[in-house]
Amino acid sequence: MEWEAVIGLEVHAQLATQTKIFSGAATAYGAAPNTQACAVDLGLPGVLPVLNAECVRMAIKFGLSTQSTIAPRSIFARKNYFYPDLPKGYQISQYEHPIVYNGYLDVLLEDDTLKRVGITRAHLEEDAGKSLHESFYNMTGLDFNRAGTALLEIVSEPDLRSAKEAVAYLKALHALVTCLNICDGNMQEGSFRCDANVSVRPKGESRLGTRTETKNVNSFRFVERAINYEIERQIQILESGGSIRQETRLFDSVKNETRPMRSKEEANDYRYFPDPDLLPVMIQQEQIDQVRETMPELPWEKQQRFQQSYGLSRYDANVLTSSQALSDYYEITLQHAGGDAKLVANWVMGDVSAFLNKHGLSIEECPVTALQLAKLLQRILDNTISGKIAKTLFEAMWAGEGDVDTLIEKKGLKQVTDNQAILAIIQQVIQESPQQLADYQAGKERLFGYFVGQVMQKTQGKANPQQVNDLLKKALSK
Ligand code: ADP
Ligand code: MG
Repeated sequence: MEWEAVIGLEVHAQLATQTKIFSGAATAYGAAPNTQACAVDLGLPGVLPVLNAECVRMAIKFGLSTQSTIAPRSIFARKNYFYPDLPKGYQISQYEHPIVYNGYLDVLLEDDTLKRVGITRAHLEEDAGKSLHESFYNMTGLDFNRAGTALLEIVSEPDLRSAKEAVAYLKALHALVTCLNICDGNMQEGSFRCDANVSVRPKGESRLGTRTETKNVNSFRFVERAINYEIERQIQILESGGSIRQETRLFDSVKNETRPMRSKEEANDYRYFPDPDLLPVMIQQEQIDQVRETMPELPWEKQQRFQQSYGLSRYDANVLTSSQALSDYYEITLQHAGGDAKLVANWVMGDVSAFLNKHGLSIEECPVTALQLAKLLQRILDNTISGKIAKTLFEAMWAGEGDVDTLIEKKGLKQVTDNQAILAIIQQVIQESPQQLADYQAGKERLFGYFVGQVMQKTQGKANPQQVNDLLKKALSK
């Protein structure tokens, strides 16, 4: 039997506000434990929450960018549960009346098709504190700095059909919220995390299967692995005659598997009710129009501009616009390198990305700045060095060995562009390879590469490749 996976994601995007959603306490990451939680965040008796207007503005921005309905009136509700990192005994969230609902995001898939993913809702809520199990023997530490930090929970329709599609959607959403400047997108710090709901059903079936929800997966790679593991696990159970338990699971990135955490709670377990301390959130059309004025160029708009102005493929343009920092890096490099859009794209998506991946760095942390890369590419374009030498230079620049021109000088890497010098080496190579010459002239044209290789070897890669090609063609056809 053929199975179909059905996936819906709930994404928690921490809103990039200076202060918390219902208090004036700071939200900066990494402060000493319990130095950024005030009486409101701790739920001490007698305090009252006051809604941070910035959060509303950010939710509207998100709603506008996803063609969602922005509720003229939405309601904060108490979601009651007991957990040590939730001092009030309830989380303030939105339930029946979210601030944003019924939108969509168009996502570019690997096969270059667009997929429309429905956004069921996006609601405002507060984050909980953190339980720290590692640092305390036989005890749990509690850090309430995060308590009360603003979250936008973005819930998708169960429209995704594979782990790859889910990751593409998640990346598109990440690009969007960082571009809107409503979330810093830092997944390691937990600013953008995802719960993956997964079920399977026989292909052709229209009813949904029973789902599991894997909590708090915080990297694109882990989301893909967790979903694939879940799909396989569920198919195996169903094929051996079992049935899926609706439950909440955890992803173990070391063992690469999901494990049950608790059986799924029903909404009524939470005894939701409207929070009597907070007024309904009323949004006038006028405020929506004001926010509309502040909308930046959105990722897909930028992607189109990159295709049109730089002649890039849709795929390349999509990758390069996946974050503000990356597109800035690309455009600054391009501006200063003198306008070979494809060359710059190849470098940013090739060597730069590969090095960043290898070292686990983000583009913001790239030790080779856009200006330095531009200088390197200039030296390719003005024929001082070949593309191949540029690669080794890039490595040296990455390691902080100096700037391009100093390195070229110091390492003696200046490209040989003197025709006479190149010709002399060509003659030498031809003399040393009588057999290859005879074979080539008898029609084995692919031996041309052999001659190029020999010349490059003798010049330590410094001969200008185009000149070598031209001169060799002439010399060999004699
Ligand atoms: P909760 O998890 O809080 O109960 P919902 O019932 O609204 O919330 O569902 C949350 C997410 O689960 C949504 O993203 C939705 O698309 C997804 N989902 C719901 N049913 C299924 C299913 N059978 N298979 C896969 N995903 C599902
Ligand atoms: Mg859920």
